[in-house]
Amino acid sequence: MEDLTPIRRQYLELKRQYPDAILFFRLGDFYEAFDEDAEIVARELDLMLTSRPVGKGQRVPMAGIPYHALEPYLARLVEGGYRVAIAEQVGDPVNGLMPRRVVRVVTPGTALEPALLDERRPNYLAAWIETEEGIGLAYCEASTGRFAATQWSGPEARREAEAELLRLDPRECLYPAAPGEPAAPPLAQSADRLSIHFTPFPAYRFELGATRTALQEHFQVASLHAFGLEDRPLALRAAGAIIHYLRETRPEALSILTSLESYTTAGYMILDPATRRNLELIESTTGDSRKGSLLAVLDFTRTPMGGRLLRSWISQPLRDRAAIEARLDQVEAFVEDPVARERIAERLRGFPDLERLAGRARSGLASPRDLAALRRALGMLPEIQMLLHRMEGPRAEALRPLIARLDPIPELLDWLTRALVEDPPATLQEGGVIRPGFSEELDRWRTMAKEAQAWLADLEQRERERTGIRTLKVGYNKVFGYYIEISKAAARQVPPDYIRKQTLVNAERFITPELKEYETLVLNAEARQAELEAELFRELCRRVGEAAPQLREMAGAIAHLDGVIALAEAAVRYRYVRPELVEEDCLEIQGGRHPVVERALAGRFVANDVRLDEEGRILILTGPNMAGKSTLLRQVALIVLMAQIGSFVPADRARLRPVDRIFTRIGAHDELAAGRSTFMVEMSETAYILHQATAESMVVLDEIGRGTSTYDGLAIAWAVVEYLHNHPKRRPKVLFATHYHELTALATYLPRVRNAHMAVAEVEGRIVFLYQIRPGGADRSYGIHVAELAGLPRPVIRRARELLRRLERGEPAVRPQAPPPAAPLPLFAEHPVIHALRHLDPESLSPLEALHKLYELKGLLDQASPPSG
Ligand code: ADP
Repeated sequence: MEDLTPIRRQYLELKRQYPDAILFFRLGDFYEAFDEDAEIVARELDLMLTSRPVGKGQRVPMAGIPYHALEPYLARLVEGGYRVAIAEQVGDPVNGLMPRRVVRVVTPGTALEPALLDERRPNYLAAWIETEEGIGLAYCEASTGRFAATQWSGPEARREAEAELLRLDPRECLYPAAPGEPAAPPLAQSADRLSIHFTPFPAYRFELGATRTALQEHFQVASLHAFGLEDRPLALRAAGAIIHYLRETRPEALSILTSLESYTTAGYMILDPATRRNLELIESTTGDSRKGSLLAVLDFTRTPMGGRLLRSWISQPLRDRAAIEARLDQVEAFVEDPVARERIAERLRGFPDLERLAGRARSGLASPRDLAALRRALGMLPEIQMLLHRMEGPRAEALRPLIARLDPIPELLDWLTRALVEDPPATLQEGGVIRPGFSEELDRWRTMAKEAQAWLADLEQRERERTGIRTLKVGYNKVFGYYIEISKAAARQVPPDYIRKQTLVNAERFITPELKEYETLVLNAEARQAELEAELFRELCRRVGEAAPQLREMAGAIAHLDGVIALAEAAVRYRYVRPELVEEDCLEIQGGRHPVVERALAGRFVANDVRLDEEGRILILTGPNMAGKSTLLRQVALIVLMAQIGSFVPADRARLRPVDRIFTRIGAHDELAAGRSTFMVEMSETAYILHQATAESMVVLDEIGRGTSTYDGLAIAWAVVEYLHNHPKRRPKVLFATHYHELTALATYLPRVRNAHMAVAEVEGRIVFLYQIRPGGADRSYGIHVAELAGLPRPVIRRARELLRRLERGEPAVRPQAPPPAAPLPLFAEHPVIHALRHLDPESLSPLEALHKLYELKGLLDQASPPSG
């Protein structure tokens, strides 16, 4: 240590306090990183890695960025999941060394700076705690002040909590880390983790006592009753941990957290991550882009707040009938009134991000232009209110609650109007932010500065006249301030009151006491002006910050308005209809379309009818590959989902009873990274559905048992349908697409199973897809036709046809020249169970008899092939 330079020692001391952050150490005009930090920074930001001497002959790696370019670099590091501690120079040098202190730690979840935020998505910091009693989850957004907490207990806790965490998709999630205890949330290891950065945080920061105190101190309350947290200890602990964390990383973000909402997920549909992904709600599965997602089709929002809200509506559909109807009413009001829709939409375009703006004002980061934007926004509200008021029609009533939430806070608007100039500069430092007439004192200093400046400006002319020196000039430089310059040639004419200051080659520079007086006056006046402006601006920010709760309310209403107008616009543009919510246990869609695929096919999309009800709860959909099965399945699920976010739906008519969950098992995606094979994933997703589905759920299964051999796969698929059909409680509505056309036999003995197929026509030996759903099962799978379409070589197709014919006749595929390799039985052909099934007349059986018959068949099965041991 002794050999190190003082500055190196200072650096190491700071670094010791922030071991898991990259330390940006302010050195003059640069932020420098050293050692491993320097290597990371150089790599991540494509910077030069240099080095710096740190004492006797030693050098360490160093990489730096200019101080004024900090934000964009910071954004890239935080994006990459790094935490960055920023050490600034504070105060004056002590023994030649600048004192330095870490003033903020920027982490992915605590960003406030606009450059670090994506305006279309929220930037949440979450905290997760799991104990034997259940799970607590809290989240906040440092840029807008949203702060909420919830908890779950019981057997479903884990699933529901995971689903909620993934819905929130926070940038960063804290979890308690006790020494030697693996307490990371289960998702931390999963491929489902999205872009969440999991940050371990000391377990004692999550303790009940410590968190309660932190929250009480933060909100200055004696009890947390008002926040609904007294009987929700896990929610409380998660919320308290967030306060602890912010105190340590971004204390300036705390002031914006003015309230805490205790919520439950009960009023919402549960969507597991697989379903959200399968239905491509927010992102399409091909690449993680918005394009091709439901959100992209519906997103006609004009404001970032509206965009964020629509996104959350889509990932959290409603269950509550009244809530759905209310939103549908609002959408309908705008569908019916295109003029109001267009006028309000126009005013929303360019509406500033009030939520984040109020946040910035409160945490002292707002710029003069931010406040001007706020002023403009407040000024627009009365017009929007009026337009809403004027709307007529039966549904306009549903918009009333929004009108009240759009009250423009006249006192604040008045302040901003009087205080702020029309078109303020980008930064306070540029000056000229406060409007003349607002502060007498400021005006006085301004006048004084102006007069002094005018005096200086006229000085040259006056002195030329007084001295008769025509080459006399008044100049200014940083070292001497104002001076009078006279050429050497005229030196004799210099009046006696001039004081010589500097001699140049051809000229001499002078000052006069009067000149210095005015100069001081100008400089003083300017400094005072800047100080006063800063003070007045801070006061304005304080007022804006104080109004943050109202501004947040207002932002919420604007976002909501933007969201329902967007849905109305989609409805009109794409000819959607209002879904009818019914009590009857049915789902009926006439002329339904897939909202995303129909956009891509521009007019060539074939609409279809689907009905699921008490008599037909399970629909088995067969048809060749590429016939449109998956599209139909997803389209039904999407129509239900859209209805439950309060949107109109792509159909001629839709009647449905709201569902509690939508489950999907679609396609095969690899989770090999997580060490699970595709088939394993498929089966665990299926298991999940069989354990969770209720009579109110909707289940979409696209091919089950594909990842294994035909017999295995068919057997599993068969058993799954039977289970969903016969279970007393888990009897959801099911859409099941399969290429195993053998499964159509299920309908012969399971009364609530219906068959349907996607029609194809055969034209000159080739197949043409009609994309129409028809009753009854497909008679064959047309696999070879599809293979032919795909361009398999002719000889392969010919040989495949020949083999198929043989197999269909029950002949072995290979001529028995040599003893055949244990030839596979043609499917279910000779098996005694099949035999019994053939002679069974399901129509004549009561459900109970059918169940008995089932046991009988199962007994037969066990006899015929006793479990191997
Ligand atoms: P499957 O699941 O039966 O293999 P898909 O649902 O994947 O078939 O559909 C294959 C393609 O057929 C889709 O990419 C789409 O282009 C087209 N398609 C599907 N449904 C329709 C429809 N209703 N109208 C027009 N084209 C459709």
